[in-house]
Amino acid sequence: MILAKKVRSSLLFILLLCIICSEVAAEEIHIGILDWRTLEDFEQHWLPSLQSLEKEMPAHRIVLHPMTLNELNKGVADNQLDFLITNPGHYVALSSEYRVAPLAQLQHLKAGLPLNHVGSVVLTHQGRQDLNEFTDLKGLTIGAVSPESFGGYQLMLDTLHLRYSDIKSWDIHWNFTGFPMDQLVEKLLNDEFDAIVLRSCLAEVLALEGSVDLSSLRLIGTQAIDTYPCMISSAVYPGWPLLRTAKVNDTLARQVLAALMKSDSILIDQDVMYWQPPVSYQSVYEVFERLRIGPFAAFPHNPIMHWLIMHRHWFYGAFALLILLVLHNIRAEYLVRKRTQELEWSQQCQREAEQIALHHQDELRHASRFTLMGELAAGLAHELNQPLTAIANYARGSVRHLQRQDQDLLARRTQLVEASEQIANQADQAAAVIRNIRTFLKKDTGEYNWLAIVPLVENALLFCQTRIKQAQIKPQLQCDDHLPDIFSHRIHLLQILANLITNALDAMVDVDVDQRELCLSIHQDKANNRLIIQVADRGKGIDAAIEKHLFEPFMTTRKEGMGLGLSLSRSLAEALGGQLILKNRSTGGAMAELTLPIQPLLQE
Ligand code: ADP
Repeated sequence: MILAKKVRSSLLFILLLCIICSEVAAEEIHIGILDWRTLEDFEQHWLPSLQSLEKEMPAHRIVLHPMTLNELNKGVADNQLDFLITNPGHYVALSSEYRVAPLAQLQHLKAGLPLNHVGSVVLTHQGRQDLNEFTDLKGLTIGAVSPESFGGYQLMLDTLHLRYSDIKSWDIHWNFTGFPMDQLVEKLLNDEFDAIVLRSCLAEVLALEGSVDLSSLRLIGTQAIDTYPCMISSAVYPGWPLLRTAKVNDTLARQVLAALMKSDSILIDQDVMYWQPPVSYQSVYEVFERLRIGPFAAFPHNPIMHWLIMHRHWFYGAFALLILLVLHNIRAEYLVRKRTQELEWSQQCQREAEQIALHHQDELRHASRFTLMGELAAGLAHELNQPLTAIANYARGSVRHLQRQDQDLLARRTQLVEASEQIANQADQAAAVIRNIRTFLKKDTGEYNWLAIVPLVENALLFCQTRIKQAQIKPQLQCDDHLPDIFSHRIHLLQILANLITNALDAMVDVDVDQRELCLSIHQDKANNRLIIQVADRGKGIDAAIEKHLFEPFMTTRKEGMGLGLSLSRSLAEALGGQLILKNRSTGGAMAELTLPIQPLLQE
């Protein structure tokens, strides 16, 4: 009884096991695949690549369904399909309605042609020499497989929209033949269409298979993409994904994914195939968004955005131009700054050079006064000698008066007082001469004062007194009445006048004594508010050889001369706001004329 019970329960267990096993063995995985070419191609392409699933998942039976776009849609909608393999455009369209997600992607190289990438190509008959650019397609008939075909129509439409804003007015007649796509080439060659749109690389595959002669076809609108070996008229997009539907649970998805990733590369003739993780389909979404199809069909068209996208090349150009302008401005500003710095630097150098030159001029004037003083030293010694001798004489006389032994000292008091006063006067005169010399030899203090001109001219004559006496001349001084004081620089004026007087004396060295004449005159030029001081002589006159260069430095006819007197005197006169000229007199001799402003110079 117990045995029978045990056998019965064992049989029940085996039966259950059998039922479970048969259930498991019967579990089918339905994979729908978009059949875009031929069944033969389908078998060659997909069957080997999915065989690994059967091997890795022996408990499952893989059932492949070649389907059209509509059949795939229905399969997903009716929950009949576990997985599907379709083009990226269809995936994006499906994803807006159904929960489908990419699980893997098949890499497929056919004789080096990357069939896993999708692009569009526009081809025409080789004989159609009139068709070269997209713009040549206006008003013509173009064959394409279907409005839903991603590589065979939508991509091309997007490319044309991106490039040409007026595409709607091109009046292109689209003629849709339906799948398979291969037939389009035949119809083109039969002149049924002016041009056709193919998925990229299909023409090359057909050529490999021997069904098409590539030389009979010609590409329109080349899109140069490095390393892409097929003819192409659009950009390249990611290839077909394997999608899991909502029907598939995570365990099954994981198993399928693991099996696909584990599978080796498949080599059949010239085909290499292997599965890899999926890539981003964002670029495909963008195509759909631009075309307002699939999930974006209901999106409103933003005319501003559309206009901006259409004219983006102008914006790029304007932006590049803006950058160029900014760069140009930066460069110009840099150059201006550099130039300003250079200018400031050169101005500073110039100012420093001017300062140095001014300093040297001061030094030169000072040195020249020393030279002049050297020349006049003998005369000055005489000037000092006179009061000193007088002082000595008065002092000795006073001593003699004081030494007398008579009681009459008080009676001589008057003479003693007179002698003492004379001593004091003569000492004052000597002190004045020394003061004059010291002032004359002092460095310029740059001080301007109101000066009485007549005493100043007399002072200059006093400096030259000895030279005048040596020349045995009695100088004449003629002045206008009521001459005004002038605002000027005493030392500079003395220096100019002493120079002119000594020059006049030098000019008369070889002239007979009784012919010699030194005339100084001071006049007021009221109209021009200035004073004119003339120093005239009866000398030999100006040497014709140097007449034009008189005021140039180191220009001299005298053996011991430096040739600096006139040039320094003129520069001093100009610094005082005046002028200095030297000219021959019509009656013989020369005349120097110094013109000086009476009023202070207005500072600019
Ligand atoms: P220097 O007296 O050292 O020669 P100056 O510059 O004072 O230098 O004079 C330059 C030259 O001008 C003189 O050598 C002389 O030939 C000429 N000169 C100056 N004053 C007279 C003058 N009153 N008459 C004639 N020639 C003059």
